[in-house]
Amino acid sequence: MTEFTPEHFRIDIALAEQLIAEHMPTYGAETVPLAAATHRILRSTIRAERDQPPFDRATMDGIAISGADSRRREYRVRGTQAAGQAAATLAEPGDCLEVMTGAVMPVGADTVIPVERVRAAPGQTMVIEEGYLPERGQFVHRRGSDHARDAELLQPGVRIGAPEMAILTAAGQPTVAVAAPPSIAIVSTGDELVDVGDPLTDYQIRSSNDRAIAAALEARSCNRLTRARLPDDPQALLAQIGQLHADHDVLILSGGVSMGKYDYVPAILKQLNVAVVFHKILQRPGLPMWFGVSAAGKPVFALPGNPVSTLVCLIRLVRPALEAAMGRRDTRQPRVPLGEKIEFRPDLTWLLPVKLNWTDAGECLAMPRPTNTSGDFIGLRDTDGVVELPRGADTFAAGTPVKFFSWQ
Ligand code: AMP
Ligand code: MG
Repeated sequence: MTEFTPEHFRIDIALAEQLIAEHMPTYGAETVPLAAATHRILRSTIRAERDQPPFDRATMDGIAISGADSRRREYRVRGTQAAGQAAATLAEPGDCLEVMTGAVMPVGADTVIPVERVRAAPGQTMVIEEGYLPERGQFVHRRGSDHARDAELLQPGVRIGAPEMAILTAAGQPTVAVAAPPSIAIVSTGDELVDVGDPLTDYQIRSSNDRAIAAALEARSCNRLTRARLPDDPQALLAQIGQLHADHDVLILSGGVSMGKYDYVPAILKQLNVAVVFHKILQRPGLPMWFGVSAAGKPVFALPGNPVSTLVCLIRLVRPALEAAMGRRDTRQPRVPLGEKIEFRPDLTWLLPVKLNWTDAGECLAMPRPTNTSGDFIGLRDTDGVVELPRGADTFAAGTPVKFFSWQ
């Protein structure tokens, strides 16, 4: 573990990311029915229950014949082979069976002639289209041709979407091990904050951050969430943050970490023996962000209260760290070209809200949508996320590839 030193004050975003990763615990797994596994992070290796496909499978409606027999122009129909029926047998040369997509190939048959190429004639015969010559083995999906039994189908760390759910189902286990989300307390601090539904006066505001943070976390199946609103009162903060910290695996605080007279959060966390890992990141928005870990190894993220800052810090630094700690392996970070030239003079990393636009040629461009201030969360509507413009440059040309972080 890296201890806090003065070097961990006003740090580069890359170091902040690294320090968070070094201090995150590893969260456990739980076994759930498949129906409850959608969007969750897989935590076990999934192997094939059987060969795939499990039998030679007809891929067209038509007639099944023996390839050795394929130059014939007429076949006697000996019956029907439907999906879900055990394999019938082609007894003699010149025989065929009508076969349906998904059916097992009859014993003695290895080729399907599609229904479009045959015509039923009197006397239970099928006549092949003039000039049509089937290729031996055509329209048969051979047993095991996709993969063999016991082959590795899914690795731990993937998020379970539609294809993964199909694969899990085919693997035949009714339950699956997925990441157990940590329990997270989301704490808004500020005397001005009022929840929806409660009356408010001219000088108060709705506490939007805690619900917005919850929405961003729920989008990644972190759903063991508790929300709390606390006043700017050191005694109350000490008691209630202490309790929430005891009761939950993770604390995400918003507000009270800046330089104001009532910004008590860092001092309170210190009193609660949460060791500071870093304070302040050379980024905009979200410069005052604070991160620490308790003796019990529980991470505490304290985000500045301005709504844009809170959400940007959350999706750029907090949520990816939680996902990695829950076992997410796919850490590919999409880069998107900037849609227009943009300038930024301060020596800070700029986390700039963008809208993704697709050109007619199919190129995805990140169109800058800067907000008026870091309090202007209404300005985030119609944006898709933020891009990261590194420190050290002040002009970013159109087309510059930049890391993209999605709200979703
Ligand atoms: P602070 O970080 O406490 O200095 O707060 C910065 C700004 O964010 C102030 O204008 C606060 O009123 C606002 N703010 C703090 N917490 C919230 C919240 N939960 N919802 C909406 N705005 C907030
Ligand atoms: Mg405040």
